[in-house]
Amino acid sequence: MKVHEECAVLGVSLTSSEAVGVSYNGLLTLQHRGQESAGIAVVKEGNIICKKDTGLVSEVFAKERLSSIPPAKLAIGHTRYSTTGANLRENAGPFVTEYLTGRIATAHNGNITNAKDLHDMLKKCGLRFKATSDSEVVASLLAYRIVKEKDIFKGIEKAVSELDGAFSLCIASADGHLFAVRDPNGFRPLCLGKSEEGIIVASESCAFDACGFLFLRDVLPGETVIIKNGEVINSVFTNKKKNENLGLCIFEYVYFARPDSIIDGLSVYEARFNMGMILSEEHPADADIVCGVPDSGLDAAIGFAFASGIPLVNGFVKNRYIGRSFIYPTQDQRLSAVRLKLNPLRASIEGKRVVLVDDSIVRGTTIEKIVKSLKTAGAREVHLRISSPPFIFTCRYGTDIDDMENLIANRMSLDGICRKIAADSVGYISLNGLKRSCEKCKVSFCCACFTGEGDHQEINKGILEADNKRRPIAN
Ligand code: AMP
Repeated sequence: MKVHEECAVLGVSLTSSEAVGVSYNGLLTLQHRGQESAGIAVVKEGNIICKKDTGLVSEVFAKERLSSIPPAKLAIGHTRYSTTGANLRENAGPFVTEYLTGRIATAHNGNITNAKDLHDMLKKCGLRFKATSDSEVVASLLAYRIVKEKDIFKGIEKAVSELDGAFSLCIASADGHLFAVRDPNGFRPLCLGKSEEGIIVASESCAFDACGFLFLRDVLPGETVIIKNGEVINSVFTNKKKNENLGLCIFEYVYFARPDSIIDGLSVYEARFNMGMILSEEHPADADIVCGVPDSGLDAAIGFAFASGIPLVNGFVKNRYIGRSFIYPTQDQRLSAVRLKLNPLRASIEGKRVVLVDDSIVRGTTIEKIVKSLKTAGAREVHLRISSPPFIFTCRYGTDIDDMENLIANRMSLDGICRKIAADSVGYISLNGLKRSCEKCKVSFCCACFTGEGDHQEINKGILEADNKRRPIAN
């Protein structure tokens, strides 16, 4: 089984007992980062109560379930994205682990590349596993080190130094601390917000607006921020080294994050707008209109239209009640999902030469269907512009990208892709252009899916087999 995590994490530490409501609203805002499961864990009088299940936040926390969580000052939350087959209730976050002197709850976003080694080491030490997720390995390692070090702070520091790969963590301890941890490369975003009532930690800052908090700052790569009773009380850095070829996943700006989030000093909307402007410089087109593929291509399309002077039009109607077609298991299902989800707006495209802007091509399934549907609806020409470079490598750090042989850019030349999807021209933004679009970002990037840089070539050891009998987690 493959372990892929593109999740959202959240933590709330307040002086009032409103942490559950804030967590729920925050998770709703972060739903785009994971639609397969959701969970909230609260600390109440030294106990941790965790409710979680597969489904959307609004489904998992239907009214009765949400009101069954007691009011609390400290809570963490999680939404999970997984590839087909791994969407088990046992893998839903947060994970609650018990150790001799206490309990912690952990929410994890990222992919631990040494999860298999850590899992084997912990099993030898007598720990039992219920799930198949590397997030459970993180949670167990934290508990194990806290017991060994006999100190929660030293235990967390030690565990963090043993983890390889991508991790943004929110950890709540039964003694009332909230820890916000980001790995030394800072692969996944994590930031802090503040209100009069306390502190919120979230994968993306858009959650703060929805919950009435103001953006405070990003958690820095390698930093652990310690929060108690609604205040930041300390911040420590791991002495584990950053890999100079790695950094924040640049695909956060291209696709994952919401445009209203600010990550490491750069607005996601601004980055996408810049990508569109640079695409129009690098791959101009003789065309009548520009349209973006909803939703992820829309902001780059605005930038393309702005820079080229070609009018931006609404080219599609999107059915908002259908989930992501990317994750359907079979090609047939994916194709019909695309058809159901996006319908071209004949009135705006008939007889026109169209610049079509999208964020990425992975397998090529989606875009082929979309180009054909535009042509069927009367588009005279379709010039496809893509706001990320061709995907050539899979990702070890938590982005769900298909096996290398299924990546269309690995199988075909640019001309081949153009013919296959029946476009009139195809232009991908260059890597340099993508980096220029994001130059206001204050940290370095991981672009390994485009370049193969970093420790990318190693065999992914972070693949866990479910060698324990699966039992439902009591929550
Ligand atoms: P396809 O080329 O048909 O495999 O799908 C590409 C589309 O899926 C892109 O235009 C994105 O909107 C979306 N996408 C790209 N990467 C991911 C990912 N890692 N997880 C989910 N959706 C993605």
